[in-house]
Amino acid sequence: LPYASRPWLSSYAEGVPHEIDEPTQTLPEMMAASVSRYGKSPALEFFGATTTYRELGRLVDRAAEGLRRVGVRAGDRVALVLPNCPQHVVAFYAALRLGAIVIEHNPIYTPRELRHQFEDHGARFAIVWDKVADTVAEFPSDLALEHVISVDITRAMPRAKRFALRLPVRKAREARAQLTAAPTSKRARPWETLLTHGTLSRKHTGPRLDDIALLQYTSGTTGSPKGAVLTHANLRANAMQGRAWVPGLHDGEETFYGVLPLFHAYGLTLCLTFAMSIGAKLVLFPKYDLELVASAVRKSPPTFLPAVPPIYDQLARAAARGTIDLSTVRFAISGAMSLPVATVDRWEAATGGLLVEGYGMTESSPVALGNPIGPSRRPGTVGVPFPSTEIRVVDPADPETDVPLGETGELLLRGPQVFQGYWNRPTDTAETLLDGGWLRTGDIASVSPDGFVTIVDRLKEIIITGGFNVSPSEVEDALVAHPDIEAAAVVALPKPRGGEDVAAAIVVRDGVDLEPDAVRDFCKTRLAAYKVPRRVIVVDDLPRSLVGKVLRREVREHLMS
Ligand code: ATP
Ligand code: MG
Repeated sequence: LPYASRPWLSSYAEGVPHEIDEPTQTLPEMMAASVSRYGKSPALEFFGATTTYRELGRLVDRAAEGLRRVGVRAGDRVALVLPNCPQHVVAFYAALRLGAIVIEHNPIYTPRELRHQFEDHGARFAIVWDKVADTVAEFPSDLALEHVISVDITRAMPRAKRFALRLPVRKAREARAQLTAAPTSKRARPWETLLTHGTLSRKHTGPRLDDIALLQYTSGTTGSPKGAVLTHANLRANAMQGRAWVPGLHDGEETFYGVLPLFHAYGLTLCLTFAMSIGAKLVLFPKYDLELVASAVRKSPPTFLPAVPPIYDQLARAAARGTIDLSTVRFAISGAMSLPVATVDRWEAATGGLLVEGYGMTESSPVALGNPIGPSRRPGTVGVPFPSTEIRVVDPADPETDVPLGETGELLLRGPQVFQGYWNRPTDTAETLLDGGWLRTGDIASVSPDGFVTIVDRLKEIIITGGFNVSPSEVEDALVAHPDIEAAAVVALPKPRGGEDVAAAIVVRDGVDLEPDAVRDFCKTRLAAYKVPRRVIVVDDLPRSLVGKVLRREVREHLMS
């Protein structure tokens, strides 16, 4: 038991160093290093058009000068409201080059959701997708926003144009109906005008390692999103940890597929920082779409694919039918939600490659744990801590006290990727960041004697029924094992006389009639009686977050109404 004698656990994956060096480069310095090292290699590909590292470097320097002329200074906040596109990468590094703080947003958020975030962070500058430029430009005068730059992602790209028509957009009219204060119209200037002033002086001082680089809003799975404050050192460390983690990477030769949104912590770190730090080609997709991916594969076969279980599932089925060739993928890394073993089997059978699971959260830049990328990975677990990352498993009611090895408790994390706190939320920060730099994850986990971590569930979502604890994930796994159940969400519903019942919302395969009693009988063969859902409700669809996590909170509200 290599860890039994230690109060905390650290990484031991074979061939992976236990620690990384301290970061020395800020993100713009990291990008500049890639530009000089990989100049002629492709950095970005978008609908077939490529941008080399040298061209990307020049675009960043031009956009930085353009932003400086608009008035952006060190410490200013610059909101990005963009889908995945080359301008997203350029805007990110240009703002950082000036020492400004980037804030990422989901461009298909409703105006109300966007407004809520703008109220929270108070950015004066926004770089937005032209489809939502009207909404943002008409944000009322009680917000700090002054300057809006509008990006047409389809410029000179007929193929992108056709695709962009299919992205859902909220119309300005709807926006106005949702906003009460009077709009002030700011004129949105086109992105291209930023690029006409030459390049930023090389002497212009950039940020320091401990400066804030990013306010990254959490997914909002358990409540409304909170802005996690991440420094250059945090984000650079996570890219370095990833570099140390992955064996057999060929710097300057990998092809990453950017199907995850860059505005979420997971896609941001894997694609926007990690891929750029190793000189990879990043193929960007404005939205995950099987057809788009299949057509890109022919021109640029992927070697590195970070994604989430529903995407792997769909791609594996297509590969099994022979409609897409994914045999070139050497690294398939799943995160953000639990990865069903059935998906691993399906992917590995269809592609011949490994699919490994990692774990993280926005507050840890985000990656904190991962499976070894090789035969010693263990499906069903999230692996072992990343280099320089320590973990503890504690009593959630008393986070000072560790539970015995092997028992379940709340997972704590510590490492150079752990955030600084929540933007303007000292109470939330104090509850989440404990003395000594330990981050409370809010997730219940257990550690095997040889150090592999299993995530049981979110602490907030564990159901207590008749004095027993029920993990919704365990019940959901039992439900989806039924051949006619496509998806399931398990939540607690209040009983009329107090206490909670286990309730399941299920999505049934097309054309099948499934009686709740039959579902309960099926569960009885797999689960102890107290875990079997008291109520089973068939629904058309389950609400999901921007990366595809089932929102149990919304399912519960829906079932209660
Ligand atoms: P919010 O904190 O706003 O409610 P969120 O926690 O979903 O939203 P993220 O930071 O995107 O926001 O997600 C981190 C969470 O995702 C983790 O705390 C964990 O619950 C879940 N998660 C991430 N990876 C895995 C995994 N491999 N298995 C199970 N759960 C995971
Ligand atoms: Mg969270």
